[in-house]
Order: sequence, then C-alpha cells, then structure tokens
Amino acid sequence: MEIRELQRVIPSVPASDGAGVKLRRSLGTSQIQRHDPFLMLDEFYSDDPEDYLAGFPSHPHRGFETVTYMLDGHMRHEDSRGNRGDLGPGDVQWMSAARGIIHSEMPQQTEGRMRGFQLWVNLPAAEKMKPAAYRDISAQDIPVVSGVKIIAGEYRSTQGPIHGGATDPYYFDIRLEADGTFEAPLPPGHNAFLYAYEGEARVGAESKLLPNRAAAILTSGDFVRIKSDKGARVLLLAGRPLREPVVQYGPFVMNTREEIERAIADYQSGALAR
Ligand code: FE
Repeated sequence: MEIRELQRVIPSVPASDGAGVKLRRSLGTSQIQRHDPFLMLDEFYSDDPEDYLAGFPSHPHRGFETVTYMLDGHMRHEDSRGNRGDLGPGDVQWMSAARGIIHSEMPQQTEGRMRGFQLWVNLPAAEKMKPAAYRDISAQDIPVVSGVKIIAGEYRSTQGPIHGGATDPYYFDIRLEADGTFEAPLPPGHNAFLYAYEGEARVGAESKLLPNRAAAILTSGDFVRIKSDKGARVLLLAGRPLREPVVQYGPFVMNTREEIERAIADYQSGALAR
C-alpha cells in the first residue's frame, strides 16, 4: 500500500463569472493550474444576494463536463435543447456538454445563502463531439456512508450515481468530526485532489496541512488518509488522466486551436447546440 501525500497547494482566489457572480477559484486560476482530467473548481458561497443574483445567463460550453453541486440555495438551469431542471440543497447536476450546449444557470432566490461548487471535468478527444447529455441527481439519490456523500465513484462497496466512463471520476463530500479520520483506497493511476471548504485537515503519513479553501494536489499512491483535529468538510476528487493536449478558450475546451476556432464559428452560426 502506498499512501498519497500532499504534493502542492493551489490557494483559492476571489473571481467573478457569469454576469458577476462572486466566487473562489482554486483549480483553473490559470491554465497551468489544472489536474488532468480536472480543469477547474469554483466555490460560490455568499449570504449577500448582490453576490449571486445576476447568475449565469445564457452561455455556451463545448468539449467537457460541468458538475454543479449545491449545498445551500436554489438554482434553475435551462438549455438550448429544452431541458430544464431545478437544483436545491444537496442536489447535483452532471452535464456532459460534449459537442455543445447553450444554457443558463440562474438563482431562484432573492435572499439567504447560496453555496455550492462547480467542477469542470475534461472529456477525451473521442467524446468531445458526442451529443450533450444531462444527469440531474437529487440529494436523496446520493448515498451517504459514514459521513461520506458518494456523488461519483465507490466508497466501502457503495457506488455513487456517477461511475465509470473515460475518466472514471470519484467525487466525495467528506464530513470529518473532531479527531476524525477518513481513509479510502483510490485507483492508483488516478489523479486526485482535495478541497477543504470548512475547517482544515492533515493529509497522508506526513500530516501536511490542507488549508481551508485551497485545492491540494495529491501524489500518486493507492490510498488516501485525511485527519482533522477540529472537524472539517472536504471534497475529494479523483479521475483517470486523459494525457491529451488541452486547448482552452473560455467555455470551449478542445485538443487543438483549429477545434477551438471551429467551436467559436459554430457558436456564432448557431450550429454549436443544434
Ligand atoms: Fe455553464
């Protein structure tokens, strides 16, 4: 058994996206701050409606997956293909934009707390031009085993609603009590990172600090151990790396410049989401 240690911390920085939604970005703050197949992780968290009311009006995506995980609040998404869904506390939307989607993600509340995450997961070249697909997963369909919500992948023989596929993603929301320990095997070839959104924790045999609200890239290995003195809530993400060139232009993530130019042209002509 080889334990995964903390290799590198990517602090989150304040950012703004959509029509001015304030958020904190860790993974994806620059195009070198990625962890194949993961492109970006945003945390949005505010009690002030001014920070989120403008939402994410109509915008395109091509070439990857967006995963929205709500902790507090209520968001509605609608897309160019006539899909509509509501995300409430604990709900997840796993959207494969693939060849193209134009959608909006708008808060359905004018007061109170809005909190959640958006993760971008890359798709392999062979799947970037497949039709777009959605999975809306309600909170009650996400298994919880010993304080671990299994959104994707497997933990203690329980499978989350999302599993397998090219990147074989693992997405756990881990609640660590005071003096608590989380331990789990992970496929040794997967890239993995953590994000402590409440409290802080210690990682691996070296007990390196996982600071609050920072992404922590883990070394390779076949299992993860996280401990917390005072309690923490931590996201764990792992996926099989694609090892393909990544060319990103805003909401388009392809393998070559030519494919990006094609995506822009398709968006302008209306062909992107047809
Ligand atoms: Fe979007």
